[in-house]
Order: sequence, then C-alpha cells, then structure tokens
Amino acid sequence: MAAETGIPWTDSTHNPWWGCSKVGPACDHCYAEGVDRRTGENHWGSGVPRRRISEQGRNEPFRWQRQADRFLAEHGRNRRVFTLSMGDLFDNEVDPQWRNDHMGVMEATDRLKWQSCTKRISNLPKMAPQNWMPTMEQGPRWPQHIGVLITVVTQAEADRDIPRLLECKHRFGIPWVGISFEPAQEMVDFSRFLHMDGSGLDWIIFGGKSGPKWNDRPFDLDWGYLAADQCEFTGTAFFMKQVAAFRPTDAIIPADLMIRQFPAALS
Ligand code: SF4
Repeated sequence: MAAETGIPWTDSTHNPWWGCSKVGPACDHCYAEGVDRRTGENHWGSGVPRRRISEQGRNEPFRWQRQADRFLAEHGRNRRVFTLSMGDLFDNEVDPQWRNDHMGVMEATDRLKWQSCTKRISNLPKMAPQNWMPTMEQGPRWPQHIGVLITVVTQAEADRDIPRLLECKHRFGIPWVGISFEPAQEMVDFSRFLHMDGSGLDWIIFGGKSGPKWNDRPFDLDWGYLAADQCEFTGTAFFMKQVAAFRPTDAIIPADLMIRQFPAALS
C-alpha cells in the first residue's frame, strides 16, 4: 500500500507487504491487523504468509522521487515517507527477497526522507543490505536519507532495545534514530539515552492509544511531560502526536505540550 496519511509526523506511508506477528505489549490490539482483517483476509501470526502488494504499488516511491522538485518547492523540504505501517521491516517471516527489493527502492529514492520503523531492532545488523554495511576501507555506508525508528512503550523495552538502536546508529552511520513512545504504557526515563553531543537518540514521538480501544489502559500526560523536558534539556527533537486517536485530539493536548519538532536530518 502506498498512501497519503493523516499521521502528523510523516507525509506518506509505503507498505510493500502486509502482515506481521505480535512481539510485545505495543502490539496488543494492533491497528494494522484490524485493517487487514477488515479486508476479509488474515496475514497476521507466526507461520501465516504475508501478502506482497503489486509491482505498481511497490514502485510508488519512484513516482514521489520524480515529483521531488515540485514537493520541495511547495514544502521547502523533501517528502517524509514512513515504512512500514502494515508490518515490520525486519519481520523474520518476510521473504528476504521482498525486503531486499524494498530496501533497494529506498536506497534508490534519495530525494525522499525515509522513516523506517521496526519493533525488531536486533534483526537490523543481519537483515540490512550487504552494501549498506561498513567496511574497513570506506567506513559507514548507510544511505544518509534513511533513518530508523523503533517502538518503545515500557522502561523494560527502553532498557533492552535503545542500547541496540544506538549501537546500530554508531556502527552503521545511521543519520538519525528515534523512538515511537506510543501507545505509551508507563513512565519511561529516557535520560541515559539522550546526549547533548548528538550521540544519543535524535527524536522521541509521544502518544496515547489509537483505535477503538483507546481507553483500555491507563494513560498519563506526565509521561509526555517528562520525555519533553528530557528532550529540551539535551536539545533532542520531541513530537507530541496525540492523547488518544478517538478523542478530539489536538483540542485536548495542553498548549505547553503541543511540541512538534523534527530532527535536523528530517527538516
Ligand atoms: S510489530 Fe507493528 S505491525 Fe507487527 S504486530 Fe506489532 S504493532 Fe502490529
């Protein structure tokens, strides 16, 4: 699927396949699974085949690449593209050829600002394309128009996955890395992953639960205030996405938390 999107931190989404398996608490009531089920099919679960979209759909980023001058003239920056919202880039059960083809499309469309998202950061070192790997002669070779977001919703996930993400940032030369702290499930202290010298996280996106079960668990704006304060202190970009998607969202975000910043590499 390739689509314009209502997600405020991106311009477009691109999904070369649909399907995934649940891997953590942020996957409860997975919104994408619900969208998939409403088509009358199922591509969710271990051992369940994923669905690859058409070749025409997979090539949609090339159309955006051709439109890049127009987009830049209109917006003063390149188009941001979020991938994947209907699966996970580093899903073990996706055909490796599908992933290689997709990452080849990402690499070739260098007028797009890719926001690649995963809940499986430990798979990145073994699943990223060989020609993106650092070498002794050339050093880091990661495409500089591609950043990485991971989802972290609890302190335990933060302590487990953010060190892996930062290790990837430094080893591969990823231009920016960030956290989707959504749907936030408890207070998380990010302070030891935020640094004024740019060596830590570059971005934190904060939000409550989206979807019809938005109020099925506690949610506290103080979790966002703490993350925003920690970002401000270290010069890290912070983005307040939503309180809950089924409420009149922007209307109830307190004015002093309505902060919507991007890392410099995405501006
Ligand atoms: S990783 Fe993402 S797409 Fe996959 S089950 Fe979890 S929330 Fe859904």
